[in-house]
Amino acid sequence: MLLAGFAIGTAAVFKYETSSFKPWGWAPGDEPIVLNCYGDDFEEIYLDKPLKYWAEKGYNVAFVQQDVPSELCKESFIDGFILLKKRNHNDPYTIALTERRVALGRIRAATIYFNPGSYRLEYVLEHELGHAFGFTHLEEEGHIMHPEYEKMGSSFWMP
Ligand SMILES: [Zn+2]
Repeated sequence: MLLAGFAIGTAAVFKYETSSFKPWGWAPGDEPIVLNCYGDDFEEIYLDKPLKYWAEKGYNVAFVQQDVPSELCKESFIDGFILLKKRNHNDPYTIALTERRVALGRIRAATIYFNPGSYRLEYVLEHELGHAFGFTHLEEEGHIMHPEYEKMGSSFWMP
């Protein structure tokens, strides 16, 4: 019985994830802490603008931790945290990607992986933070959540 219920629940959740622009969110009042595991070359000044961008829309983080113990940076996810990490994706078309850990309908943790390159990191971070806050992609030119870097813009609206 339990297994059958779980399977149905999973299918429903999957449908929700694929048909909604914002299928998940952090618990109300839950402001994640950002851990910068990317390294010193991702300075706090690059984080300011993307974090303000989302704060203006009501999506806040508690604070940013720059010097993070290396044991913490080895984790894939840490509940209550957004991790920023550097990784080679072996895929030249992927600039960055965000993984989310969702439990009981809430985002518990998110990790943003950047492919080192010559991209404007703060612009890419703006997009990836959108994923970390629960948004999926929206194929509208000029929208911050457009999946293609060239068609991405700094605008945000709910479809
Ligand atoms: Zn994306």
